[in-house]
Amino acid sequence: SERLLGGFRRTSERLGENLAGLTGKSRLDEDDLDRIEEALITADLGPGMAARIRDRLSERRDIAANGTDELRRVVAEEIAAVLRPVAEPLEIDAFPRPQVILVIGVNGSGKTTTIAKLAHLFQEQDYGVMLVAGDTFRAAAIGQLKVWAERLGVPIVTGPEGGDAAGIVFDAVKQATATGIDVLIVDTAGRLQNKRELMDELAKIKRVLGRLNPAAPHDVVLVLDATTGQNALSQIDVFRDVAGVTGLVMTKLDGTARGGVLVAAAERHGLPIHAIGIGETIDDLRPFDPDEIAGIIAG
Ligand code: GDP
Repeated sequence: SERLLGGFRRTSERLGENLAGLTGKSRLDEDDLDRIEEALITADLGPGMAARIRDRLSERRDIAANGTDELRRVVAEEIAAVLRPVAEPLEIDAFPRPQVILVIGVNGSGKTTTIAKLAHLFQEQDYGVMLVAGDTFRAAAIGQLKVWAERLGVPIVTGPEGGDAAGIVFDAVKQATATGIDVLIVDTAGRLQNKRELMDELAKIKRVLGRLNPAAPHDVVLVLDATTGQNALSQIDVFRDVAGVTGLVMTKLDGTARGGVLVAAAERHGLPIHAIGIGETIDDLRPFDPDEIAGIIAG
């Protein structure tokens, strides 16, 4: 897809150039391997991943003689090997219903948009969806989610600005259960600047949910903005502490040269990657295809 390609193009350009510059030689020497490793780090794939690919190439130094395509193929294969185990779509399989999906992430990461995209995806799969405006801290967040709910034609449970998020979630689960809803998608506050408060709030939501259904929340999905590069990676550490994360959605891969963070995240954390965001409209959520992404990144 053009949009996806566009987003990863700059990530892969630099890498592609570096790989292309190395072919025609009979063997890769230490300098060549250094150069590749550096290019991989520059492309945000992370030091662990870069070292891993370097090691692989150092065992096969004579592949340079086989041309750029062969070199790229080896790099792509290494990347794909790390991405494949984490590619895991969000399945709706909770019984009893509803399946409760908590969506967490810092403000501006694309949380609200991702919730709308997920709602749309589940609607297309014929599931009954309900949204919950659990980010009561921002009036704008409640408003924005309401607009999406109206557009999608899905019910939404909201409370007043500054209201008790856990109480709203409690009401929502009861309504969802009474009306046979399959999936409850819960927006949450994203104020990472007050970590303690956020942690308490998310813990309280989880406690309330657990009282209604010990298996809930079934999913805690962290939304990350790929354009923030290494920052997105450190958010995984923080949110794992704060809330316990079960999977990731990486957004804004259409407009960034930081697509490599996806690979770094997979390599470092091994958390499931459910989907990726490649634009602002409701249809711009894509399943995460490891081989496609690996191929694009390796140029
Ligand atoms: P929230 O504060 O985390 O709820 O973030 P929003 O959902 O309001 O998104 C913040 C901005 O990022 C909005 O302008 C969205 O349209 C935009 N956005 C969200 N996801 C994507 C994406 O995948 N690609 C692009 N280009 N923009 C996105």
